[in-house]
Amino acid sequence: MQYTGVLKKMNTELLDTVQYYLDMNTDFINVNQLLNKTIEMSFVTYECLSCGLEKEIYRQGFCRSCFFETPSAGDWIMRPELSKAHLGEEDRDLEYEKKVQLQPHIVYLANSSNVKVGVTRKTQVPTRWIDQGAHEAIEIVEVPNRYLAGITEVALKEHVADKTNWRKMLKNDIEDEDLTKWQERLKSFIPEEAKEYFIENNKETEIKFPVEQYPEKPKSLNIKKEGSYTGKLVGIKGQYFIFEDNTVFNVRANEGLVVNIKVKS
Ligand SMILES: [Zn+2]
Repeated sequence: MQYTGVLKKMNTELLDTVQYYLDMNTDFINVNQLLNKTIEMSFVTYECLSCGLEKEIYRQGFCRSCFFETPSAGDWIMRPELSKAHLGEEDRDLEYEKKVQLQPHIVYLANSSNVKVGVTRKTQVPTRWIDQGAHEAIEIVEVPNRYLAGITEVALKEHVADKTNWRKMLKNDIEDEDLTKWQERLKSFIPEEAKEYFIENNKETEIKFPVEQYPEKPKSLNIKKEGSYTGKLVGIKGQYFIFEDNTVFNVRANEGLVVNIKVKS
């Protein structure tokens, strides 16, 4: 079997164990079924996720010009506190920004290698947590727009991490934390404007990933540079493929690359 298509982050489903799906143009692959199989992956070319042209990918699956022009790559994506649609102010395309920013957002705590705070649209729970490789997470504040979520995150960042250590996450070098206790501890640091949106009596979500063998020393595969790679898939966590020889491949960081995947045995 072989598939060719442009890489986009894997779709996921939170069942007993997370199910992963890779959309490869004409085929929709359940990646869990490739576990314990040897896979050959080769770099073919580029395909920008916005304009669809064969142009080198700059960031987030976009070519350079799309990255600086498309409404879905505005600065407020990575820095929610810069959101301005609630004021009726345009960044790149006000209609688009209203649609995305003026909807319920969640400020959460997720534990992937350490406890961190993050922001996501409510519709992206628990997808966002799975993408980060969090084994546990909890919603702490639900606000009506992205701006309020952004300023809450900025305030809480003073007291809790906002980044994941991907090596620790992949090695499963993790500790269980009581996230409801963290939530109580952080409550008083929530900004005035968002205090009324604090979620009381919430429970942690536990997430189990399909990993049979964790890498001891994860080394990241650069498929553009290597051209091709062959290895046995032994796990999937976050948006990473984990191979038997400690090689890991971040699907999300390679969005916009066209690859060929051959399932060998
Ligand atoms: Zn483009």
